[in-house]
Amino acid sequence: MSAKNLTDSFGRVMDYLRLAITDRCNLRCVYCMPEEEGGDPVSVLSLPRIERVLKVMGSLGVKKVKITGGEPLVHPEAAEVVRLAKKAPNVGNVTLTTNGLRLARMAKELAEAGLDAVNVSLDTLDPARFLSITRRDYLHRVLTGLDQALSLGSLAVKVNCVPTADSPIPDLLALANLAKSHDLHVRFIELMPIGLGKGQTGLDPAVLMAALAEAVGPLRPVSRQFGNGPAAYYALPGFIGKIGFISAVKSCFCERCNRVRVTADGYFKTCLHMDRGLPLPLDDEAAMAEVVVAAVRDKPAGHLFAQDDGLGEERPMSRIGG
Ligand code: SAM
Ligand code: SF4
Repeated sequence: MSAKNLTDSFGRVMDYLRLAITDRCNLRCVYCMPEEEGGDPVSVLSLPRIERVLKVMGSLGVKKVKITGGEPLVHPEAAEVVRLAKKAPNVGNVTLTTNGLRLARMAKELAEAGLDAVNVSLDTLDPARFLSITRRDYLHRVLTGLDQALSLGSLAVKVNCVPTADSPIPDLLALANLAKSHDLHVRFIELMPIGLGKGQTGLDPAVLMAALAEAVGPLRPVSRQFGNGPAAYYALPGFIGKIGFISAVKSCFCERCNRVRVTADGYFKTCLHMDRGLPLPLDDEAAMAEVVVAAVRDKPAGHLFAQDDGLGEERPMSRIGG
């Protein structure tokens, strides 16, 4: 197995794996997960299978792993998953995205396991809006978790927000302000028409950028990347952290795509938007590598959000990992 095996037919190199270790979650964000789960049974990837996936993907050339879910911190062995990812061949950078509910309890253990960075998904600082978005009254737990992650000093921290068309601008400005007073970056992610996101309207990033410029001052583009993602970052006057925008719909970045995904029910996806992916033989490393290499070769050029013809991924984002 060699790194060149994960080069697709367009010359893009896949070195970034998003690994969903469970599709269970302790929130029910309206654009991500239905209140009542139906359909496919809930999945939790076992440690031996996770270790095998990491070994195969690392051997094929993956260098960066994002642990995701569902909510990865409801996996009973989340810290051990971090440890395994850090030990996987070639993998240097291990990060995790979480809703933050269990972060206060687990941040130290995760950092000790070798976690490099944590993304906390948080759409509002208003408890009533938090309840209406996530269907749970747990904002206080996310904020405590965020504080705990920051207090360690060893974890790079980002806050990820998915603004919808009805998100009040003052609410989003308050969230952006976290980067003024704290050593963290706040990123605004454009809502994608996947799963439950299809029934919602995202906020045009240009509207928020204009509001930020008016409230705080000019947004100065920063060429440096902070992490693995395709975010465009801006510095704002008086802010410690940066403000990032990830706009997969309005500014498609597929031509730079370096990501592949493994879902908690064992599917390998080369595109977030396209169908469910291919079932991975999770208990057979050689067979798994064959499926991965063949699928990467067939990776599509880009998403088809604009002309969704029913071929797109139908499952909720909580089953895919974001
Ligand atoms: N539970 C963890 C969390 O919330 O960070 C990890 C899984 S969650 C699916 C990963 C990310 O996907 C979250 O930041 C969430 O806001 C984002 N997400 C979910 N549905 C989305 C959609 N339709 N469009 C854009 N982002 C979405
Ligand atoms: Fe759960 Fe994360 Fe989806 Fe919210 S965004 S429902 S926290 S998986």
